[in-house]
Amino acid sequence: MNKIIFANNPLDRMSGFRSDKDWQKANLLDNETRFVVFHSGKPLIHVSSEPGSNSTIFLATYDQIKNFIEDAYLLFLGKLKNKSYYAIDLSKSNKDFDKTAFPNCKFIDLRSIAQSISPEDTGILAQAKSMVEWNSSNIFCTRCESSRLETVDAGCKKICKNCNVELFPRVDPVVIMLPIFKDKCLLGRQKIFPPRMFSALAGFLEPGETIEDAVIREVKEEVGLNVTSVEYKFTQPWPFPSQLMIACFCQTDGDTTDLDQDEIEDAVWLSREDLNRIFVGKSPDRIWIPPAMAVAHQLIVAWMHNK
Ligand SMILES: [Zn+2]
Repeated sequence: MNKIIFANNPLDRMSGFRSDKDWQKANLLDNETRFVVFHSGKPLIHVSSEPGSNSTIFLATYDQIKNFIEDAYLLFLGKLKNKSYYAIDLSKSNKDFDKTAFPNCKFIDLRSIAQSISPEDTGILAQAKSMVEWNSSNIFCTRCESSRLETVDAGCKKICKNCNVELFPRVDPVVIMLPIFKDKCLLGRQKIFPPRMFSALAGFLEPGETIEDAVIREVKEEVGLNVTSVEYKFTQPWPFPSQLMIACFCQTDGDTTDLDQDEIEDAVWLSREDLNRIFVGKSPDRIWIPPAMAVAHQLIVAWMHNK
């Protein structure tokens, strides 16, 4: 099991069957098929009332969502065992969704529920939410600027019948890195962070850049350090709306920082002992780091254990 939230999607995406209309039609009506329901970007969650037990994705049957199919996006996610999973977005539907028919269910922001559901459910929701967002924000062709896009391949592709452009769901790569010099790592603080929170550095990849180029550029821009080597660690899908966080360690050739105050208002070099004190709530400066659902947290923990 991967410890990283949003990174444990158990579905077989069955990409070879997305464009098979007959297969999709039969699949949709299969008794075992289930639907992950979204409204206004939020998934429908069955909230656990038992202390200590997980909330779960509410999986609707075909009968429960059939009235909405005509005017909602219906997106094929994949299969797990014999069950097919679709996402359905009710935001654009004119029909009322009767929530009283679903006791203990609520549309909940994914960020606030991610730590209370199983790792597999976070993985399914990461895929579903990014697909829902992409489908609902790509309505018209941006190339010929005149046509409405047509959704094909069970929601995994859009085409313009006017200029024949094909569009696929986008993923935006972000590098997130921990600069390291000798036995310390550097954490930085953006102005928008809550008071006393420090984290790894981060930035979007730019066109034509490798992961290594982006790490070297971002570290130089944000804290003025020269990176001498980059070590890829792991990735995390981040469905707000569709990023891929690429987490790396990077060695620097010194520890003298020159902060870009527009981006980073403060930075601090910390040893493993300093981080241990932060984890047990005994940091002298009351510094804290992002929670476990953030890949920055996992990157910092990985460095603490990587002696
Ligand atoms: Zn077009």
